[in-house]
Amino acid sequence: MTSRGMNVAIFLVIAELVKYTPSGGVKTQFDRRLAMFHAYAASSPDADFVTFEFDPGPLGHDEVEVAVEYCGICHSDLSMKKNDWGMTAYPFVGGHEVAGRIVALGEGVAGLGVGQRVGIGWTAFSCLRCDQCQSGHQNRCLQAQGTIVGRHGGFADRVRAQAAWTIPIPDGLESVDCGPLFCGGLTVFEPFVANNILPTARVAVVGIGGLGHMALQFARAWGCEVTAFSTSPDKEEEAHQMGAHHFLNSRDTEALAGVAGSFDMVLVTVNAPLDWDAYINTLRPGGKLHLVGAAEKITATVFPLILAQRSIGGSPTGSIVRAKEMLDFSARHGIKPMIETYPMSDLNTAMDHLEAGNARYRIVLTAG
Ligand SMILES: [Zn+2]
Ligand SMILES: [Zn+2]
Repeated sequence: MTSRGMNVAIFLVIAELVKYTPSGGVKTQFDRRLAMFHAYAASSPDADFVTFEFDPGPLGHDEVEVAVEYCGICHSDLSMKKNDWGMTAYPFVGGHEVAGRIVALGEGVAGLGVGQRVGIGWTAFSCLRCDQCQSGHQNRCLQAQGTIVGRHGGFADRVRAQAAWTIPIPDGLESVDCGPLFCGGLTVFEPFVANNILPTARVAVVGIGGLGHMALQFARAWGCEVTAFSTSPDKEEEAHQMGAHHFLNSRDTEALAGVAGSFDMVLVTVNAPLDWDAYINTLRPGGKLHLVGAAEKITATVFPLILAQRSIGGSPTGSIVRAKEMLDFSARHGIKPMIETYPMSDLNTAMDHLEAGNARYRIVLTAG
């Protein structure tokens, strides 16, 4: 058994023992040690991640505790560490692409079991009562809590989330591949559903990186004609392997002009400014420029939008049911991220690799 497997096995044994421990007793030092979570935290935007222990407190009535086996690193982990969005609390424990096994269930949780393989993505909680939640758009809940926003995430031995957002992993998927599906994968799957993309559609993906390489696979499996846009010509062969029929250099203005009026959806996965008008010009009438990369701002000439009823929009990851559909779709079509693995203890090296733009294409940390 690997040390990781051993850790999970120990948690599962502990979970069983805890069931038979009378409540209200005096906590021993052993109990307290077990209760502590062991994580990696950054104390400021520029600090390295260092080991960090914390007491998570009592498990909530509707919460699930998961032993982390794998945790992907998403670009948002880096943005949050640096407080790019002004909402980071320090010490900061990142990690919102978790795949692991349930080790404890809150008293009110039904339908999930200790030992079950599950994952947790960007969202760890939503109110489940507002109009957005009750219409199946829980990712748009205004009370939603991010797994790493005001909470401690999956760069740890354990992490907690609301049961509703703890998503079972289907049998056809390996846990090591699943972490990146829970944030990056869901983020690029949602636009196909939200925009009613048909198998007859032509779809372009801008940026072949952590998000884009999964978007190409979804687009191909969806049945679409797929075009990849990248600034890196060396990614052409891999883009074709991942499903692209066509590959164009995003900096080649002639190439962009050559595909004017072509696409039903242009899915932008990069967070850098683009020649927005040039990309809008590649949309067919009724087409959508769909943003999932957080470029700071977008400026566009209005007339081409009005004349051809084109639109610009975005989406924040996806709902609970969309996450389940995305996993089933991935299992059915053999879709998985291309990953590089690092032990979680090498988190800082992995973060540097991501920040340098060298990840091919998604980094996954292995626990233990
Ligand atoms: Zn993410
Ligand atoms: Zn809600």
